[in-house]
Amino acid sequence: MNRVVLKPKRDWSVRKHHPWIFSGAIAFGEAGVGETVEVVSAEGEMLGYGSFSPASQIRVRMLSFDPKRVPDGAYVAELVAQAISRRAAFFAPESTTNACRVINAESDGLPGVVADYYDGYVVCQLTSAGAEHWKQTVVHALMKGLPGAKGVAERTDVDVRAKEGLLSHAETQRRGGVAGFGVLAGEEPPELIEIREGDIRYFVDVRNGHKTGFYLDQRDARSAVGALAKDREVLNCFCYTGGFGLAAAAGGAKHVTQVDISHDALELAKKNEELTLGEGRMTEDGRRFGYVEADVFHYLRKCRDEGRTFDLVVLDPPKFAATKSQVEKAARGYKDINLLAMKLLKPNGILATFSCSGAMTSELFDRVLAEAAVDAHRDFQMIGRTRQGADHPVALNFSEGLYLKGVILRRMA
Ligand code: SAH
Repeated sequence: MNRVVLKPKRDWSVRKHHPWIFSGAIAFGEAGVGETVEVVSAEGEMLGYGSFSPASQIRVRMLSFDPKRVPDGAYVAELVAQAISRRAAFFAPESTTNACRVINAESDGLPGVVADYYDGYVVCQLTSAGAEHWKQTVVHALMKGLPGAKGVAERTDVDVRAKEGLLSHAETQRRGGVAGFGVLAGEEPPELIEIREGDIRYFVDVRNGHKTGFYLDQRDARSAVGALAKDREVLNCFCYTGGFGLAAAAGGAKHVTQVDISHDALELAKKNEELTLGEGRMTEDGRRFGYVEADVFHYLRKCRDEGRTFDLVVLDPPKFAATKSQVEKAARGYKDINLLAMKLLKPNGILATFSCSGAMTSELFDRVLAEAAVDAHRDFQMIGRTRQGADHPVALNFSEGLYLKGVILRRMA
């Protein structure tokens, strides 16, 4: 096995079980794409094993911190089985959903491996050289270990794959391959997979939808918003396929305006409304939903200029900052939309606001919100926080894993 030797004093993060070794921490050592290497301190002490990514700044991702535990196929399969067993509650008969994340990458000990489960179909995103290397082992273990597994597919249209020297979406297309999606085992999933979250039904488009098709990570936040929505006039910004809006309606909202810039997302949001209402799961008292295809930045200004107000505003924008260098610009974007949303709220109105930018810390997000409130000339109190759900755990030694932050505010005056 090839060996990677760290520079002096650059072993502390591995000793704390942080899974990433950056190229700058390495004295010497080479290996092939995704190959397993021994990781050794400058003094020659064995620290464990990781997967080598020759093209990436994150040169090694740790798979085992135990010098006695060499990661082989059985080891990786065992990690998959453990990840599944941690989600046993999601697969129990009394579970209120049939969709969850099954493998959450680094935080489940499997760097670069994401696997989401939608009613029997698994969709993976393999975003590191090591993840790609262990692909067949992971797929086999998923098919074997998941209750009622029908098939495993993958999405390859993830930008970071290029950083890892793996085939990107564009490159796959250029070579005439199937763009962004491929079945790895079992059945091909249907065009739309129907999932449920409590009383709500969603169609998930695993080929064209964002990420693997659905924002599973916002499950807890959707239910928090639902619990606050009774009799409220709701504005759901960046609604995608309608999640927060449907949750609000299920919680008794008077009316919901769903806003997104994507025509396709809104079409699916409408289908999801029909799917959920159609089977009589929600009482339909007149038209409870409005759909607006617009840029939220413009739409919020339009509402302000027209003097419109709401009782509950949800702001769940896409990632504004992909890297630390973009944080400042991102902070301005967050401040802008939050300030505008705050101005649209009636007294005692609620703002549920989110940031899924990993580079944006929770402290910074709080500060941006506080500044927005001052500039909006409004006082707010924080009545809750949300984060990614329990099926998106964060390894305690991997704070990068906590990317999704939610704050629930109530206008005081
Ligand atoms: N709240 C959703 C997820 C939102 S994802 C859920 O829980 O499922 C972000 C959404 O923002 C995407 O649907 C994208 O189409 C939309 N979007 C991105 N930029 C936008 C803009 N400037 N105005 C409106 N929508 C935008």
